[in-house]
Amino acid sequence: MSSMPAPPQTPRPLPVRLSPSRAKDFLQCPQLFYYKTILGLPTPSSIPMAKGTLAHTAFERLFDHTKEERRDPATALAYVEPGWEVMVNPFAQRDDVAPDSPEARIRNKEHLWVGELDEESWEFAQAHSRAAEYRALMAKGSPEEAKFLIDTAKIVENYFSIERPWNFDPEARELHLEAESLGVTLHGFIDRLDRYTTSTGEERWVISDYKTGKVHQPRFADDAFFQLKVYAVLLKLVEGVTAHKLRLLYVSAQQPDAVQELLVDDAILESTQRKMVQIWNEMKASEAEDMWEAKQGPLCNWCHFKPQCPAFTSSKR
Ligand code: SF4
Repeated sequence: MSSMPAPPQTPRPLPVRLSPSRAKDFLQCPQLFYYKTILGLPTPSSIPMAKGTLAHTAFERLFDHTKEERRDPATALAYVEPGWEVMVNPFAQRDDVAPDSPEARIRNKEHLWVGELDEESWEFAQAHSRAAEYRALMAKGSPEEAKFLIDTAKIVENYFSIERPWNFDPEARELHLEAESLGVTLHGFIDRLDRYTTSTGEERWVISDYKTGKVHQPRFADDAFFQLKVYAVLLKLVEGVTAHKLRLLYVSAQQPDAVQELLVDDAILESTQRKMVQIWNEMKASEAEDMWEAKQGPLCNWCHFKPQCPAFTSSKR
């Protein structure tokens, strides 16, 4: 294997496209955004993040199956162990994996086969780097790994208590949307887009996002739905349709809290567009002055960059 390119350490220009997650970083703390996006410093993975990634894989691939197959949680559970195998061994030889097996379906989606991705590319290096991080979280065959797989399987199984995936066919999964809005290029990936027709013949679009963490507290609802509101703006710009509803599916939780919904209207779309433009303008001003405010808050205690952050050290960057 070729040597891995080192992660960028020198400042890079602002990205040409703004995603809701980068916008959220900046809103939380411009200094955090500087570390992650301008310097491109990696943030380490964690077991909860790995569980989230693995559960998302199972939910996405579940809808490759027929409605009848989707009645059985075993269909989704069959992706847990192969999904982890792909996370820790990103590239496999086609001859080593049974065609149409869960592992092959996952690899086909991401082109994770030996020889299919340029070995000199950043994506190739990133895939190996992420895999090494995942492997470092728990040793192969360890009790920690067994617990991780059991816990993830419980999340996947719990999903069947909050939705009936055999009752509908998604319009799209992991849908990438990109559009210009008031001079800013926005983009993002929608976990699942559903479309249905009401008994009165109205067509309705619903944007759903799987969350493996805890249900947000009501006072943080604005923040929790921010990403989905940006997706609704994108859907309007790209497809010309207004989403009827945004849904956060807290797949580890129990009903009635597990599904949190927000109805969409023009006021939400307009205020979200304005907010993204405001964030973009503030990013450009920070870049022009090379001033990235270290905005302290409760989340600093979970910030990977705290040991080097100027707010907590005497050093200046
Ligand atoms: S420790 Fe707090 S202030 Fe410093 S970069 Fe992280 S979030 Fe920002």
